[in-house]
Amino acid sequence: MTAKTVTILGATGSIGKSTIDLISRNPGRFEVIALTAHTDVQGLAAAARRVGARHAVIGSEALYSELREALDGSGTQPAAGPDAVVEVAGSGADLTMAAIVGCAGLAPVMAALKSGRTVALANKESLVSAGGVMTSAAAESGAMILPVDSEHNAIFQCFDHARPHGIRRIVLTASGGPFRTRSLEEMRQVTPAEAVAHPNWSMGAKTSVDSATLMNKGLELIEAFHLFRLGADAFDAVIHPQSVVHSLVEYVDGSVLAQLGAPDMRIPIAYTLAYPERMETPCERLDLVRTGRLDFEAPDLERFPALGLAKAILAEGGAKPAILNAANEIAVAAFLDSRIGFLDIATIASEALSVYDPPAPRSVDEVFEVDARAREISSDIVGKYLH
Ligand code: NDP
Ligand code: MG
Repeated sequence: MTAKTVTILGATGSIGKSTIDLISRNPGRFEVIALTAHTDVQGLAAAARRVGARHAVIGSEALYSELREALDGSGTQPAAGPDAVVEVAGSGADLTMAAIVGCAGLAPVMAALKSGRTVALANKESLVSAGGVMTSAAAESGAMILPVDSEHNAIFQCFDHARPHGIRRIVLTASGGPFRTRSLEEMRQVTPAEAVAHPNWSMGAKTSVDSATLMNKGLELIEAFHLFRLGADAFDAVIHPQSVVHSLVEYVDGSVLAQLGAPDMRIPIAYTLAYPERMETPCERLDLVRTGRLDFEAPDLERFPALGLAKAILAEGGAKPAILNAANEIAVAAFLDSRIGFLDIATIASEALSVYDPPAPRSVDEVFEVDARAREISSDIVGKYLH
């Protein structure tokens, strides 16, 4: 078997590290073309040495010489700057793991899609913002998108891609996050440290906060809408605190298919790395008897308004998802800096959506314009909520 060539965008993050862990456990199966990071030079250099990457690219230009020193004698070529990240993203690896967090990942993901190869997509924010622009680019180049997000990976595995007309509904599961049982009053007071302490999954700070507000589930409904072409009302979310059932696909005859597994991102990541084959992982095996019970409950849209916001704009589409995403990124950063309260995140996103209503973006440049303007507007709105 010839080695599959792989590039990892966001190699120093939670998803990036899990990807590198799996690659290191399978010597000879993968050949790493390039790794990228934003500011974590030492993490990037260590990862590049570990997997013998040909290129290592740091997004922040000022860190070039530090990277060059850290890679000295390793055989890995250093590079720096956002253009260099986009360049390696488009260099045509068999598989590109898109694991940058936020809309910052959009330009590299587009470059990877244009190369016409396979993109393992973790970076949901780029698909939420660019939607149809991104899926059209994939269709044009013939690139395949393999979802890494555990819910979408589950749906992908259960979805009859040849006969989608047999599918009635898709149900995404959500753990409910750390505040599932907290009252609104209690949620007003929660700290960033409490919000990033997810009960089941280990993730980067931004995505952990999104899980706590259920904005993550809202973004995922939009992500699913673009990945699996059904009407907007075919997508729903249900709370499932154990995070064992990763999502469900309901067929017109009443059959429901679900994918189950331990809550470990290395399982969906391994699916995308090995696709269409399967590969071993060191992950805990699912033991249903030990799990004992699987609970499900309806999400409370009053305590978690972010999910309602996302649901409401799912059918509308246009520029709204990009505005929601940008406003959320700004508000989450302000919350993580302890500048605003937890409940202000959804309020700020809602206000941004109500004051800014541009036409639907038709190109990536137009998506960037909407994203940039929505960030300015949201930063102004954040100013009203500072404590
Ligand atoms: P992390 O915050 O852990 O990692 C983010 C990665 O992106 C790091 O490598 C970081 O580099 C890099 N990065 C950050 N900002 C920029 C930028 N402006 N330009 C280029 N690179 C940048 O995030 P996660 O790994 O948790 O998440 C990655 C993506 O996967 C997100 O879109 C998230 O929603 C999605 N996802 C994550 C899951 C998880 O379990 N973690 C589950 C499902 C989806 P540096 O380290 O140098 O800052
Ligand atoms: Mg998910």
